[in-house]
Amino acid sequence: MPTDAQLSAAVDTARAAADGAADAGTVGDHLRVVEDGERLVSHHFACLKPGYTGWYWSVSISRAPESDEITVNDVVLLPGDDAIVAPAWTPYRDRIRPGDLSPGDVLPPDEDDARLVPSWAAGDGDEQTPDRFFAREVGLGREWVLSFEGREMAAERWQEGDQGPDAPIAQQASGVCHSCGFMVSLAGPLSERFGVCANGMANDDGRVVSFDHGCGAHSGARLSRAASAQKLPDPVFDTLTRDEVEGL
Ligand code: SF4
Repeated sequence: MPTDAQLSAAVDTARAAADGAADAGTVGDHLRVVEDGERLVSHHFACLKPGYTGWYWSVSISRAPESDEITVNDVVLLPGDDAIVAPAWTPYRDRIRPGDLSPGDVLPPDEDDARLVPSWAAGDGDEQTPDRFFAREVGLGREWVLSFEGREMAAERWQEGDQGPDAPIAQQASGVCHSCGFMVSLAGPLSERFGVCANGMANDDGRVVSFDHGCGAHSGARLSRAASAQKLPDPVFDTLTRDEVEGL
């Protein structure tokens, strides 16, 4: 209970203020009084407005020291714990998930996107000497290239994704991509761990695969004896005709 008895007792004043702000008949029972500060309290009233279940009217009132005059500061409709409210606002950029882009959509990188660095500044981590591979990009038209962080993020994503070693198809593969004749090598730092599958019969054709990924279409895969086509017995020449059968 607030320490200011005069403000606590001013329920009628607060209700009159709420009635003045709300649609007729939408201010319900007095719920509670809350102390917001010295000589500053809020009276809460149930909201009877259709569609506003769990909301309440909050009327803030105060008075000056040594004064009996009550001032209505504010009347607002607020959601209670059980109120139905809209989900928190999510910026457009954060709502887009990988694979959401449609033809014509534009999604530029952030200005401070850690995944990209100017091509002249690209190097490997703490190395002072620019990486030779990226140095080749200078003058070739690419203004930005993957940063060390961007490369590691991509590597982690690929390694843990469906083209990594933990994918179910890789768990039962007859061989790993690193030893597969269908794997095309990449260039640059990521080439030490990844390649591209170029087997048109494989699920991962055209995708980046980790060296320790694999599938049953590995170039060295061979059918086991049990799975091989069984040799059929010699054919039997059947000379019996239908008339002969019916004549029996
Ligand atoms: S065919 Fe299979 S094992 Fe070979 S590169 Fe493609 S995914 Fe890897």
